[in-house]
Amino acid sequence: HGTADLDLVAGLLRDVPDFPTPGIRFWDLSAMLADGPGLAATTRLLAAATAEPPDVVVGIEARGFLLGAAVAHSLGLGVVAVRKQGKLPVVAASRSYDLEYGSATLELPAGVIRPGARALLVDDVLATGGTAAAACALVEGAGAAVAAVSVVLELPTLEGRARLGEHPVHALLTR
Ligand code: AMP
Repeated sequence: HGTADLDLVAGLLRDVPDFPTPGIRFWDLSAMLADGPGLAATTRLLAAATAEPPDVVVGIEARGFLLGAAVAHSLGLGVVAVRKQGKLPVVAASRSYDLEYGSATLELPAGVIRPGARALLVDDVLATGGTAAAACALVEGAGAAVAAVSVVLELPTLEGRARLGEHPVHALLTR
């Protein structure tokens, strides 16, 4: 049911002009997340990113938490929350990356990624790729491997895929 799933997901995404700042076209996944069949279809498609099942799912704050937990549950796996700086009490490592203005930092919780594990990273949107690249670096810094980066939406004009180097990117849709 791949094509039907994809049509269902595509129909539940909405774009909002000039949010959060003028000139940005923001993709809002709230309607898809709130829709039972829509969330199930998205979860199936995101979970199909790798031929070999991964060992663990990594969700990126914040919408990657919702999707990552759904994907992990569907595969019978656990989920690791990569969080924005200052949220985790015990941190394995931090990674900063540049935003258009300023920078952001992501953190990996300590002691939850097994060295040698194959991790499936999940987020909602791949834009410039800075967020996903930082998450990949954290996973690899813990001695695990990135099996794939799985996202609902890729914005190809921002060339995020190039920033992810050799890491396989599985995007359900491009806009
Ligand atoms: P980036 O690091 O530029 O790839 O940005 C990816 C992160 O920012 C993801 O976690 C997205 O949730 C969010 N994001 C960036 N651009 C957009 C957009 N146009 N619409 C919705 N979310 C976005």
